[in-house]
Amino acid sequence: VKEIGKPERAVITTCAYCGVGCTFRAEMRGNQLVRMVPWKDGKANRGHSCVKGRFAWGYANHADRITKPMIREKITDPWREVSWEEAISFAAARLQKIKAEYGARALGGITSSRCTNEEAFLVQKLVRGGFGSNNVDTCARVCHSPTGYGLSKTFGTSAGTQDFDSVEDSDVILLIGANPTDGHPVFASRMKKRLRQGAKLIVIDPRRIDLVRSPHVEAAHHLALQPGTNVAVLTALAHVVVSEGLADEAFIAERCDWDEYQDWARFVSDARHSPEALEPVTRVPAGDLRAAARLFATGGNGAIYYGLGVTEHAQGSSTVMAIANLAMATGNIGRRGVGVNPLRGQNNVQGACDMGSFPHELSGYRHISDAATRALFEAEWGVALDSEPGLRIPNMLDAAVDGSFRAIYIQGEDILQSDPNTHHVAAGLAAMDCVIVHDLFLNETANYAHVFLPGSTFLEKTGTFTNAERRIQMVRRVMDPANGYEDWQVTQLLAKAIGLGWDYGDSSQIMDEIARLTPSFAGVSHARLEAEGGLQWPVNEAAPEGSPIMHVDGFVRGKGKFMVTDYIPTDERTGPRYPLLLTTGRILSQYNVGAQTRRTANVVWHEEDVLEIHPVDAENRGLSSGDWVRLASRAGETSLRALVTDRVAPGVVYTTFHHPTTQANVVTTDNSDWATNCPEYKVTAVQVSASNGP
Ligand code: SF4
Repeated sequence: VKEIGKPERAVITTCAYCGVGCTFRAEMRGNQLVRMVPWKDGKANRGHSCVKGRFAWGYANHADRITKPMIREKITDPWREVSWEEAISFAAARLQKIKAEYGARALGGITSSRCTNEEAFLVQKLVRGGFGSNNVDTCARVCHSPTGYGLSKTFGTSAGTQDFDSVEDSDVILLIGANPTDGHPVFASRMKKRLRQGAKLIVIDPRRIDLVRSPHVEAAHHLALQPGTNVAVLTALAHVVVSEGLADEAFIAERCDWDEYQDWARFVSDARHSPEALEPVTRVPAGDLRAAARLFATGGNGAIYYGLGVTEHAQGSSTVMAIANLAMATGNIGRRGVGVNPLRGQNNVQGACDMGSFPHELSGYRHISDAATRALFEAEWGVALDSEPGLRIPNMLDAAVDGSFRAIYIQGEDILQSDPNTHHVAAGLAAMDCVIVHDLFLNETANYAHVFLPGSTFLEKTGTFTNAERRIQMVRRVMDPANGYEDWQVTQLLAKAIGLGWDYGDSSQIMDEIARLTPSFAGVSHARLEAEGGLQWPVNEAAPEGSPIMHVDGFVRGKGKFMVTDYIPTDERTGPRYPLLLTTGRILSQYNVGAQTRRTANVVWHEEDVLEIHPVDAENRGLSSGDWVRLASRAGETSLRALVTDRVAPGVVYTTFHHPTTQANVVTTDNSDWATNCPEYKVTAVQVSASNGP
């Protein structure tokens, strides 16, 4: 501030990094952001923040920002800078030609969890109402799509059940497959505060995350399971709850389907599901597992928080359902201090999913095959909608390789770097006739694009994000867009160019349309958000003030549904050639593929991806910390430096995926969740050997 001068004005807005959704006061001098100050009245953060939100906004003015549209005939041609008019007509002509030649289902799009609700809504509207297919998907495909499936099946809707405040009443916190001190730091602080007050913590994670042992916090139990065995661990916990008579049968009888509960109880109480029987699979000592189950079932209010260590597995959806089963069986749903809470990674992954970004669902999680719902949208949009679910991202890429899928509009997503099996993604993109990338930077995916449309940052747009506690919050334009347009305006240009009569004057009109079409958003408007601050959906006639806690008097689906979830080992097996299991995660100072954090002028951001390896495995390979290693799997190989640590167990290695030079996803495989195709990032059989460097 001292160097740049005093701020002249300030705008309150929402962080664009993680799903906590911290509110900031953006202090400005002219059109320059001076600093970001955590806002004391922010409903999700109450004046707190982490380093990313506070300091990592320099990417907004980075020299790598592309602010002029570009086109090229072939992906081997050099880019040609053109006017917006030329870029949009070029894109529209290609889209229309492909549609005429190959039909509507040859086109699709990807919405962004980094963009606003209004922008995600418009991209799926463009695909469904303009392209004419349901081939729309979102990056939740590779993170929380199993949450959508699992929680919809068991509870009836795809969202966390609690607000963040709820943790203040938790007595036992079960944390599975999440590392909140790195991934969701501001919420982690609130969790730690509760733990310091005496709440007990159970951590289920193959790696010794910070919360297992940190100043003033020590987990009661750390169940360091073998990667890929979440369902077996949860089944063993449920076995103890049922077979030792610890289930809350009064809650179950009143709130859940009793017959389904009995089927499930018979299944989990079978002797083959005891902690002892499953110990060879989970590698968790049976005694620890029994003690953890008793603590969760009898220790008072039990809350479950989970992350991508649950979802990014071949049994991701089964694991989410197993978590829901455990919460229902112990009566831990529908009041403060309890619940099932996915810790959402991206700032607006909840919102992008709510907005109808999946190929089978319109906004508000209503199936595309439902004629009454379709009719509502058809009347509003004035078009007929395809009643068949469309293609998911991996299926779009498969179809592109086969020649039946030819064009894609990708807003704010770098699928080449973030999706599994990079070689297959590249093959799919290279096979298409029209790849439109709408982004801030020439990302890795743009290497395969024919049209590049410059995007706007969260500082350059007005709209809303929805955080992990379903809180819809305003994002306010702080500075003018470097490219001249907010992202929703670019989508509107494209829509108009292919003949759609869109005429939104500002993003509040898009939210009004969302509210008209989406019952859980019926009471939401920008005017109301401005007047009242964030609102937690559902906001409608039944819940005019919003819903901090869900399933209070009954589940959204009526009776809670117990789902039998049998443990099925992943196909990804270790063997003599690939003897170690790789699992992946994030560090505090970096964010996903690093597109933003790597472009922030602060040396702290430039930490490299390293491979954590246990001392025994390192010694067997003659490795020390800092040595270069070759990391190879059945899918591919990469090089990075080793970090020898007992945070990981023998037989397990761990890395992050923030740097394009590492390309950790070169080694991850095509395996995916049986229900949603969410990639199995968390389990890859690998070989590690000394190398001379990249
Ligand atoms: Fe932003 Fe998340 Fe950090 Fe809050 S905790 S400042 S939302 S990255």
